[in-house]
Amino acid sequence: MIPAKNVVTAEWVWLKCQFGCDGFNRRLSCPPFTPTPERMRRMVGEYRRALIYCYHRPLDLKTRRRMGRLLVAIERAAFLDGCHKAFGLGAGPCRFCAKCDTGRLCRFPELMRPSMESCGIDVYATCRNSGIELHVVRSRTERPKYVSLVLLD
Ligand code: SF4
Repeated sequence: MIPAKNVVTAEWVWLKCQFGCDGFNRRLSCPPFTPTPERMRRMVGEYRRALIYCYHRPLDLKTRRRMGRLLVAIERAAFLDGCHKAFGLGAGPCRFCAKCDTGRLCRFPELMRPSMESCGIDVYATCRNSGIELHVVRSRTERPKYVSLVLLD
């Protein structure tokens, strides 16, 4: 559990999505379909507490989907427990469909949540503020750490 003020947003995060990531404009969970850093900053300001967690996982599709379901399950449990504003933000692009049709509404809105970074959250700074060690992965053999967040209250 962390204070929501630990969550850092920054304009440069969107630049990294727009230039250098092949997911930009390809999935509804990614920019430009997600909240801008400015909007996210205002949203985070409406919360007092958040839950942050991280995991190492193999990059297979089944595990990605399982982690997406886990995020929504935590959000739902928090909601039913009285946190009516609970909202989950995952890690990486949504993978519930093989191909995302960005010209239509999401096929699984009950499961899809945007990633932290797609909403302009500086995941590194947020982890640093929260006592989670996170560093840049320097090779493909190194297993990355994934971080998710549930805004509570
Ligand atoms: S659930 Fe499907 S349609 Fe919705 S964002 Fe994910 S991939 Fe796209």
